Amino acid sequence: MSVETPALVPQPQLLRREAGVFVLDSGTRINMSGGSPAAAAPCADVLRAATGLPLPLVQDELPGNCLHMKLAPDMDSEGYQLRVTPEMVQLLAGDEAGLFCGTQTLRQFLPAEGMPAFPCLSIEDGPRFRWRGLHLDVGRHLYPPDFLRKTLDLMALHKLNRFHWHLTEDQGWRLEIKGWPQLTEVGAWRAASPLPADRHTLDGRRYGSFYSQAEARALVNYALERHITIVPEIEMPGHAQAALASYPHLGCLGEGYDARCHWGISDEVFCAGNDAVFDFLESVLLEVMAIFPGEFIHIGGDECPKTRWQACPKCQVRIQREGLRDEHELQSWFIRRVERFLNGHGRRLIGWDEILEGGLAPGATVMSWRGSAGGIAAASAGHDVVMSPNTHCYFDYYQREDRESEPPAIGGYVPLERVYDFDPVAGIDPARQSHVLGGQGNVWTEYMPTSDQVEYMTWPRAAALAETLWTAAPMLDYGDFRLRLRGHLPRLAGQGVNYCDPFRC
Ligand SMILES: [Zn+2]
Repeated sequence: MSVETPALVPQPQLLRREAGVFVLDSGTRINMSGGSPAAAAPCADVLRAATGLPLPLVQDELPGNCLHMKLAPDMDSEGYQLRVTPEMVQLLAGDEAGLFCGTQTLRQFLPAEGMPAFPCLSIEDGPRFRWRGLHLDVGRHLYPPDFLRKTLDLMALHKLNRFHWHLTEDQGWRLEIKGWPQLTEVGAWRAASPLPADRHTLDGRRYGSFYSQAEARALVNYALERHITIVPEIEMPGHAQAALASYPHLGCLGEGYDARCHWGISDEVFCAGNDAVFDFLESVLLEVMAIFPGEFIHIGGDECPKTRWQACPKCQVRIQREGLRDEHELQSWFIRRVERFLNGHGRRLIGWDEILEGGLAPGATVMSWRGSAGGIAAASAGHDVVMSPNTHCYFDYYQREDRESEPPAIGGYVPLERVYDFDPVAGIDPARQSHVLGGQGNVWTEYMPTSDQVEYMTWPRAAALAETLWTAAPMLDYGDFRLRLRGHLPRLAGQGVNYCDPFRC
């Protein structure tokens, strides 16, 4: 018996195919050594779900018909070595995340139907970048928790490991904050939304909802079991109109706000001259940090018009008292103040590249979206960066040239091949490339009212992104990726994913 070497996405760094297969059956066991058996439990779950076999976890090293999992602390995080012979499977990894990545490779070997078997081979693998992210905006539209879990499962399948959850927007505040209940009683609801085919006309339908803290905690745990960190984003000082609708005293005008119904950029931002704004943000961030244990808290920082600050007496007093030159420095002062607060609680601040304007907060990490220039500047200045340039990583842009036959999107053009061309360190001095933590695909949802539409825009572009972030640059080959994608798309279909078929004419 023989099987083809299946199409792996992302491609491992080193793969040597050998003759034969290892067949799994009802007697196959999983043995864990070098760590607690619990370390292999998520891996066993993945393989049980994919095969329908019992695959009991056993502590004793018995010969024959066994998947041996072993932790080897001298290996890099997320790295793994896999050896499959007709008699046994051995998976070695530096940590539990590595075991999980190796298990995802094993899972991709399993045939969609027929006898579950792995081809004999050896693999040495590990990621090129440690931040392999996917972002989802739930401010413009939101989706049920079971869809978010499905997205995390798909991320795990592709070895993506950061889920950037964009939780607040002008058009809706989506996370329950117990100390500030109006945020979800008022700020989670808007009176209408633009029509997808005509962004200047509103549909007149009330829209909204939010995630409870219990739902968010459950999602954090679901992600952790898949070695995915959720990075929450609470937008400030801009994209705050829904928060101002909930608590009008936090804006420069002090009254007259509604959750925004149109897309685009709002002039209504948090007042930088009012200390009550920082009391509010700090108490919100305390609740956020209690839910999300990850190192990074994303504070947005993008698209903050200075119109209100220029006319606001409180903001002008702040500029004078703090000796700031202008409103750009006021924004920088705002972000620094929030950074000190986050650092004081053991967290790191990350924000969109506008946080460079007026001077970057000392320890801030920059997420570069307006092309790569912001990320290059920040890395050159010794800051960590995550690259998510709209030239390669914006999955809300059109992916096919013939726009007329596509569902309405925000604009732009980022086809699959462009995503695959993404190189997070392009243009960065080799001495500074270690500051590039990785990259991320962004899914802004103005034109994605349904989870089906999110999937159509995300996959398979996120699969191409996953390979650019995992696989070493010299091995990246778009033609080869497309060949493997033919074998990979049925896996997505098997998960019920509404992907965009790149082979359709
Ligand atoms: Zn103000």
